[in-house]
Amino acid sequence: MKNKIVLVTGASRGIGREIAYTLAKEGHTVIANYNKSIDMANSLKEIANKENLNLEIYQADVSQRKEVSNMINYILNKYKKIDVLVNNAGIDQEKVFQDITDEDWNKIINVNLYSVFCVSQEVVPSMIHNKNGCIINISSIYGLTGGSCAALYSATKAGIDGITKSLAKELGPSNIRVNSIAPGYIDTDMNKHYSIETVENIKNEIPLNKIGKSHSIANCVKWLIDDDYTTGQIISVDGGWSIA
Ligand code: NAP
Repeated sequence: MKNKIVLVTGASRGIGREIAYTLAKEGHTVIANYNKSIDMANSLKEIANKENLNLEIYQADVSQRKEVSNMINYILNKYKKIDVLVNNAGIDQEKVFQDITDEDWNKIINVNLYSVFCVSQEVVPSMIHNKNGCIINISSIYGLTGGSCAALYSATKAGIDGITKSLAKELGPSNIRVNSIAPGYIDTDMNKHYSIETVENIKNEIPLNKIGKSHSIANCVKWLIDDDYTTGQIISVDGGWSIA
């Protein structure tokens, strides 16, 4: 069935934008959440309008409970259900461990991990009521392997994978599947601070010997939505980097 109601968080740019666009192209009705990048969100909406896709944008900071509950209430009032939740919104941080402050800790935990807890908690009751649902959390290769100067970011992503496995067990009897996708290095704004030399070095570590693109993550999301027997999995989409 291609006409599901899908919420994608952090969909103004990068991986989330590609997921939102791909799913709308598939025939789903997509609510593309964004926080600060209103121009980018508007441009996504314009593209969707031109192509007659069912996509609307919604501003909310997913680290804020009130904003999240307003967004979910809006969607449930309008569409009566949410079939698919893609928890994609996230921010990066690279810092030597000793330099990480309590402010850093609170900020990254709130945006990357609390948001997954909060948005999922607001969505799950309606999924349980419908005895149907699919939650896809975008974690990271660093949640599996850890990353130097990325202890805090890696902790949030490992935490997301913990939520994924636990919720898969808890919600399986309600016919709700919960999975993580763990991207490797994907070419988005998040990585634009890296030098050409650093990117080349990373590329050389990746068995497929190429940098990832957002469409590979979007394709995996598409597949997980169509699937009916995969749950509790952390699916690496990383060119083989995690096993290198
Ligand atoms: P990106 O290009 O920097 O985009 C991040 C997106 O998250 C933006 O749309 C941003 O929206 C949104 N966002 C950030 N904070 C938010 C908040 N508080 N509320 C709502 N939306 C918020 O990053 P990306 O590379 O696409 O990353 C997407 C996800 O993939 C993240 O969870 C990231 O950790 C994960 N990931 C990325 C890579 C990679 O190599 N790129 C690798 C592994 C995992 P606004 O701009 O509108 O604020």
